[in-house]
Amino acid sequence: MAFELQTRAIRKSFSGVEVLHGVDLDAVGGSVLALLGENGAGKSTLVKILSGDYKPDSGEIHIDGDIRQSLDPVSARQIGIRMIFQEIVDAPTLTVAENIALGHLPRRLGLVDWSTVRRKAVQVLTELEVELDPNAIVGELRVGERQIIEIARELTEDARCLILDEPTAALSSQEVERLFQFIRRLRDRGVAIIYITHRLDEVPTIADRVQVLRDGNVVIRGEVAQFARKELVQAMVGRAVGEVKRPESIARHEPAQPRIRLEAAASGDDFLDVNLEAYAGEVVALYGKIGSGSASVAEALFGMRALTAGKLELNGETMSFGHPREAIEADVGLMPADRQREAAFMVRSVAENLVAPSWPRIARLGALITSGMESTIYARWHDLLGVRSRNDPAQLLATLSGGNQQKVLLGRWLERNSKVLVLIEPTRGVDVGARQEIYKLLRGLAAEGVAIVVSTSDYEEVVQVADRAVVMARGAIVANLDGNEITTERLIAEGH
Ligand code: ADP
Ligand code: MG
Repeated sequence: MAFELQTRAIRKSFSGVEVLHGVDLDAVGGSVLALLGENGAGKSTLVKILSGDYKPDSGEIHIDGDIRQSLDPVSARQIGIRMIFQEIVDAPTLTVAENIALGHLPRRLGLVDWSTVRRKAVQVLTELEVELDPNAIVGELRVGERQIIEIARELTEDARCLILDEPTAALSSQEVERLFQFIRRLRDRGVAIIYITHRLDEVPTIADRVQVLRDGNVVIRGEVAQFARKELVQAMVGRAVGEVKRPESIARHEPAQPRIRLEAAASGDDFLDVNLEAYAGEVVALYGKIGSGSASVAEALFGMRALTAGKLELNGETMSFGHPREAIEADVGLMPADRQREAAFMVRSVAENLVAPSWPRIARLGALITSGMESTIYARWHDLLGVRSRNDPAQLLATLSGGNQQKVLLGRWLERNSKVLVLIEPTRGVDVGARQEIYKLLRGLAAEGVAIVVSTSDYEEVVQVADRAVVMARGAIVANLDGNEITTERLIAEGH
């Protein structure tokens, strides 16, 4: 009989606020359940109850008919529940093989058995059909590759239920297809799969059943074939939303010189001969699949990567940023891809995160940062950005959902009044509704005269946010699209 994992009437509160109001869920061996919902709907909280990270306040967990009030991480693991988190939690200084073995290093006579570590890694990578050097240092790999390693790690032991929390946000379409093939193979072996995503087009491709959460309640549950895309979107956001649409163009008068510009720029093997400019009042998308060089170009714009040829100009002045700090001092706002590691102070409060890059400016005014000041700044941006949180400046950033974290991180640069903003994968792991809000924010900023560069591997994002699109493949620019030339078809065709 197929493995069955169910929740019944699960309730969960944080600091007195209930975020799950009696949720039922059915995961069945040999079937993929898509779990959909906007940011803050409670998806991660629900699956963390299954992985034993959280204890529900009430309700039941049924495991093959065995009823429990709660699980702990050890028992969840023994049952065969494996969770792939949205945020990457690898060890960047270790090799691919070591990362795959992390947490369950094989030991012989008390010593780590390195030959087994390597052999197991190669076996899993082969099974995933991933061409990755087991000896490569993980910190030097792309986000998409690191995600695959995270999954590989969880699959080295027997899994009966695999939970994936938005795993594909940073993957290229090829990597996604490879992941899906692997998920299907696991499903056919009888594994129960819970697949959390905000990408609706993935639902019919990968899932057999679907469940939508909204504000901690189940609003839709059933076979995928029962629901049209529109119904799912509506269930998620609680209102009707349009399909992928071009934004209204921003009426701008051509300023004499670009805010930021790259000329014949190169960085090692990552990109070559890149010419790029962004003017005040426009959003320029740098579109390319993972590994195309688009993220590397964005990194070069804010000093995370050095140019080996060509030059970088800011308002006509040649710059050489050796560190993001120098870019920030020159008033370039930046949002790197891996927000947990590189940008956010996850264990700091929302208010501190908003204020951080403005410290030098506020300090120049001869003032000390007081918690009163932080609260004022917090109040200014919380509503404007539509941050959905407890409306408490002291809430830790880590407790916000992905989209809301991203809004706070955008707020930093608004507070600092940056004239150039460079973002990499700004809506990675952010769902439909919050995405639209972030696009609107970016469009609004451009309209106020900010020059914005968005590096992304998501073509729908390009269509929805960009005035111009620079398409990259294999480290070079392959197309420049303007205005209504930017369509999903063109982007897909040019980016290959
Ligand atoms: P989703 O994964 O659907 O985006 P989450 O389960 O992460 O949503 O969050 C649901 C709600 O619970 C949000 O309002 C979030 O702010 C809150 N929340 C999640 N984790 C914590 C926590 N550890 N402490 C306090 N609030 C939390
Ligand atoms: Mg989540």
